[in-house]
Amino acid sequence: MSLIEDSPFDTSPVAPVEYSPDSEISFRCHKGVDCWNACCRQIDITLTPYDIVRLKNRLGMSSEEFLKKYTAPFEFDRHGVPGIKMRTQEDAPVCLFMDEVDGCTVYEDRPTSCRYYPVGLLSKRNEKEYTDRTGYVLVEEEHCHGHREDRKITIGDYRKDQGVEVFDEEARPWRQLLLKKLSSGPTIGKPSPQSLSLFFMACYNHDKFREFVNAPSFTTMFDISDEEMKRLNEDDVALMHFGFKFLAQVLFGEQSIPLKEGAADKRTEERKETWELRREAEAEIHRAKQEQAEKDTL
Ligand code: SF4
Ligand code: SF4
Repeated sequence: MSLIEDSPFDTSPVAPVEYSPDSEISFRCHKGVDCWNACCRQIDITLTPYDIVRLKNRLGMSSEEFLKKYTAPFEFDRHGVPGIKMRTQEDAPVCLFMDEVDGCTVYEDRPTSCRYYPVGLLSKRNEKEYTDRTGYVLVEEEHCHGHREDRKITIGDYRKDQGVEVFDEEARPWRQLLLKKLSSGPTIGKPSPQSLSLFFMACYNHDKFREFVNAPSFTTMFDISDEEMKRLNEDDVALMHFGFKFLAQVLFGEQSIPLKEGAADKRTEERKETWELRREAEAEIHRAKQEQAEKDTL
């Protein structure tokens, strides 16, 4: 499960030759194939935010429980932009959702990379372009004998067959955020630790993000209607998309979520007061230390 340099998906030793939706491949995977489950025994799967929503809801878990039990964090770049991979068995890269006989135990909600395999998604953005461009590669790994099956199918039909379209669509803003960040170079610079934490929370820990959005510090700052707030509280996918908009504001300064009138000035004023109080407290501590040191030398 593979891709190119600046893609938010996994990399592979397979050289990418770009395919289009009309390109035809020869491939079929079915329970009778002699390599059944071979692909699920050697995984390196990056999860999209939508993959996480689907899996945690299927398993009836909170996002926090799901992240702890089934995933491992990694960084997309040297600035520490966070990503999430599927956790594997302790002693081998075997997927925790694989059953030797029945195969995938979360099949209807399996992640994007699993749906695509052996096709890989190329998501690219040229420096001066504002939208990403999509292409595909074919990954031919030795362990996968599906390529020997006599079935021709176009990449477009394979995507439909695997139900990948909705997964691509829902995760598209996340890929765009990543591509914009990863291809921006020094113009955007290194996000602050707080921005990186917000990125992690909004993209992957959706239940925590929901608490954050409901907190007074958020609701006094952003102008969100009661109807919108209700939707965010009831619909994980709506919340996820709201998170992407919020991150466009945090990372790139886009005015994607309206601010309440005067809220920014009020926050600046409050921060000023906090800094002033902190400065006075530090000066007080410093004075007390000096007094103590003088007493000690007497
Ligand atoms: S989620 Fe399912 S399809 Fe994907 S690697 Fe695990 S068992 Fe295989
Ligand atoms: S044919 Fe390929 S995708 Fe299907 S089970 Fe075998 S290794 Fe996995």
